[in-house]
Amino acid sequence: MDLISPPPSNTSYSSPTPTTPISAATAANAANTSSSPSSSSTPSRYENQKRRDWNTFCQYLRNHRPPLSLSMCSGAHVLEFLRYLDQFGKTKVHNQTCPFFGLPNPPAPCPCPLRQAWGSLDALIGRLRAAYEEHGGRPEANPFGARAVRIYLREVRDFQAKARGVSYEKKRKRPKQKVTVTPPPPPPPSDSGANE
Ligand SMILES: [Zn+2]
Repeated sequence: MDLISPPPSNTSYSSPTPTTPISAATAANAANTSSSPSSSSTPSRYENQKRRDWNTFCQYLRNHRPPLSLSMCSGAHVLEFLRYLDQFGKTKVHNQTCPFFGLPNPPAPCPCPLRQAWGSLDALIGRLRAAYEEHGGRPEANPFGARAVRIYLREVRDFQAKARGVSYEKKRKRPKQKVTVTPPPPPPPSDSGANE
């Protein structure tokens, strides 16, 4: 009789630990900001992100087949890199054939692919473009500033705006919410009642 069952594996009980977004470093910074006025030594979040992006791109070049050096890198390779990143995207971009094409809040799941959001790509290219020149690249040879990259980003923006039913134009500066004074109700028509 084999009644000995294996002990329940307790290791994988799920504690609902929320994954903390981003800001471990920020919190650590906030902890010891006493009276130091010179914060120029701590790299900003932008700088950190830029360094990470640059490392990612350099790693991409190292793994590239055939091998690719930075000096050989063109706008076409940057586009290749951006398409490669799409597989890690988290933004649902509907195909034109999807019934939810153009709906900001689709009522049901659909098999359309997840992509990198245009805003993420746009910001990424800005950081990489700066990083390229900081690493000694000549501005006129900067592949991240290539015309093909600009055109690609514009196409991605236009298509995602249509596919997701959002507008990227208006987001930038939102007009201040004006407190609209509701007009007083119109006076009652004078020819009602009063004369019997
Ligand atoms: Zn869809």
